[in-house]
Amino acid sequence: MVELLHENPEIYRIDIPLKGNALKNLNCYVLKSRGESVVIDTGFNNPDCKDALDAGLAELGISMNHTNLLITHLHTDHCGLAPGFRSKDSKIYMSKLEHELIRKWKHRKYRWEMDAIFRQEGFPQEALVEAAKRNPMIVYAADTDYDVVPLRDGDKIEIGDLTFTALAMPGHTPEHMCYYLEKEKIMFLGDHILYDITPNITVWPGVKHSLSTYLINLHRMLTYDIEIAYPAHRGIQGKTLPQRVEEITEHHSRRLNEILQVLREHPGSSGYEVASRLTWSLHGESWDTAPKRQIWFAMGETMAHLEYLMEMEKIFRGNKLVNGQRIHTYFLENKL
Ligand SMILES: [Zn+2]
Repeated sequence: MVELLHENPEIYRIDIPLKGNALKNLNCYVLKSRGESVVIDTGFNNPDCKDALDAGLAELGISMNHTNLLITHLHTDHCGLAPGFRSKDSKIYMSKLEHELIRKWKHRKYRWEMDAIFRQEGFPQEALVEAAKRNPMIVYAADTDYDVVPLRDGDKIEIGDLTFTALAMPGHTPEHMCYYLEKEKIMFLGDHILYDITPNITVWPGVKHSLSTYLINLHRMLTYDIEIAYPAHRGIQGKTLPQRVEEITEHHSRRLNEILQVLREHPGSSGYEVASRLTWSLHGESWDTAPKRQIWFAMGETMAHLEYLMEMEKIFRGNKLVNGQRIHTYFLENKL
């Protein structure tokens, strides 16, 4: 399905279904200018996404190997189909750091580092194995390698009459890029800000302070002159950016308070125990029966919040031995 969103510049949305995924859809944006075109994000590397992208591009008279691709971030719902854009007439643009991370993901060592972070919070090994089987970063990854024009914060990309500025907004991922048309006052948000759901913030090997970095960049978005802001998933209007920034900030502050309350009642809980005591919408399932993939996301989010509370010196970390393995435990700072 293709929808014309904006006439000058010409902006279209291709609705890419993400079947079986809680995100439901990807908003793939296509812009045309003076005989050139650019696609922002692709969908998973699976037949449903590929069919929807192919059909949408065909309707617009564009082919993958004769356009350009801007990737907002490394998640496979955004870049799973990127190899199809490789050709001498197309350029693929992406954060330099995130392109390197995609390559690292292919190596077991990096995934082990990620697993080790979860294990030291008490996440059960069998749940890790189960969650990995459905990890979209593995299941729907691009099937072949591809080169990109590596982007850094502030880089300009010229397509027809359009000039995009790549804005590094780390938080949701280590160097998530938003793309800004300054003259037209239009921002492509990727997953940095979504209108209907809260972007997932988690921990990454070698990356510190995901949540505080995210919150800084969340508010940084309000420093740009923006008339229209397009998110990568679900609804594309209905709320203003300042409203969403406030709501998302409140969401995190509620979560942080909830964690403090859990630690007040259960000092010395492991990260996993904290996560299991928080409220999650698990589609009617309990913590123990919910799919391990969902528990894995919840755990990642909890760790990012625990790290933030340590950074703010509201809690501190200890250790305990469980089945011969040393895992982290958390306590409120005395002053609270
Ligand atoms: Zn994402």
